[in-house]
Amino acid sequence: MSTYDPDNIFAKIIRGEIPSKKVFENEKVYAFEDINPQAPIHILIIPKAEIATVNDFTEENKELIGEIFLTAQQIAKEKGISEDGYRLVFNCNRYGGQEVYHAHLHLLGGRPMKWPPG
Ligand code: AMP
Repeated sequence: MSTYDPDNIFAKIIRGEIPSKKVFENEKVYAFEDINPQAPIHILIIPKAEIATVNDFTEENKELIGEIFLTAQQIAKEKGISEDGYRLVFNCNRYGGQEVYHAHLHLLGGRPMKWPPG
């Protein structure tokens, strides 16, 4: 388990304490544009629940995890990138390159991507 810092930047975004470019919101998830986009479309989908990393998801979060992915799928459709394709990424902890410790799914699209990542 990771300790959850309730003052992390995404918690502040959910509470509206710092601004974000909202793409979608419902009672469970919030989606907004990444401030430093790595592709023409770069959106972050986050649970509103206080979950620090992928390691902290539990059985109780199964529906929430589905909600996160289906939200990404729906946004990709609305942005018109479903057919060309896109990438969904959860970075987890230090080796995964996680910088903000509130779990978030990156939706990247609008250009071809390379594999493997660095
Ligand atoms: P990660 O490295 O997976 O933790 O990704 C964190 C992401 O959050 C990076 O892509 C940052 O550009 C993005 N980010 C950091 N601060 C903000 C912010 N205030 N608004 C939107 N995106 C942010």
